[in-house]
Amino acid sequence: FDWQENDIRMNQFMVGKLSAIAKAMNPKAIAVLGKQVKEHFNTATYQTTHLNGGAIMGTDPKTSALNRYLQCWDVHNVFVPGASAFPQGLGYNPTGLVAALTYWSARAIRERYLKNPGPLVAV
Ligand SMILES: Cc1cc2nc3c(=O)[nH]c(=O)nc-3n(C[C@H](O)[C@H](O)[C@H](O)COP(=O)(O)OP(=O)(O)OC[C@H]3O[C@@H](n4cnc5c(N)ncnc54)[C@H](O)[C@@H]3O)c2cc1C
Repeated sequence: FDWQENDIRMNQFMVGKLSAIAKAMNPKAIAVLGKQVKEHFNTATYQTTHLNGGAIMGTDPKTSALNRYLQCWDVHNVFVPGASAFPQGLGYNPTGLVAALTYWSARAIRERYLKNPGPLVAV
């Protein structure tokens, strides 16, 4: 994972907007921190902690690793709960959705998979 040029440009855009608003409030002190061109992601600094993806869910085995039940397309007895299943980054906190997806997957395992092991979504 690393920042791409577009991430940096979006950050700089927002920092510019927010700085102008903050300066207009005439604060006693202000610190403006933004990303610089070619800056790399650094785990030592608190910034985004909502990393996700890597084994994404989707509708097509050609472009995703898991189906909607977090079941591996290629190996039907492998289920992968976690934010790794998210195909995109979220604006919101991810943990609730991780938990909800896990319940959703567990229910499908209990009610469908264990009775008839195999792919839960036909290819
Ligand atoms: C500082 C910080 C603050 C956050 N604040 C919030 C918040 O306020 N609200 C929110 O919704 N989200 C928050 N998040 C994000 C949230 O914690 C993650 O999105 C969420 O934990 C992801 O869940 P996960 O199960 O996908 O992964 P994880 O919780 O990272 O679980 C992965 C697990 O796999 C284990 N593991 C890794 N490799 C192996 C291996 N080879 N063998 C066996 N086990 C392995 C790890 O030890 C870990 O227990 C925050 C994250 C951080 C870092």
